[in-house]
Amino acid sequence: MSRADMTWRNRGACNGLDPAVFFPESDDHADEAKSICAECSVRVSCLEYALAVRERDGVWGGLTERERRRIIRQRRRSA
Ligand code: SF4
Repeated sequence: MSRADMTWRNRGACNGLDPAVFFPESDDHADEAKSICAECSVRVSCLEYALAVRERDGVWGGLTERERRRIIRQRRRSA
């Protein structure tokens, strides 16, 4: 997916919601964001974008930064 292709964002279930929900103070407070992402039709695009740009903060595609780092490491190992 092109990094420039951000059209999926308009279809995100988080559209119009309080962004603070998606930037919890810690992973322990990420449940609300994760449950919204779980119902989101563009979750995969969102997650792949965050992985591609190494997004550091917030919940993207249902995963926290720590969880995304784990995926990046796993992909690197299996590449
Ligand atoms: S997966 Fe989550 S953060 Fe990404 S667009 Fe959907 S609701 Fe928003």
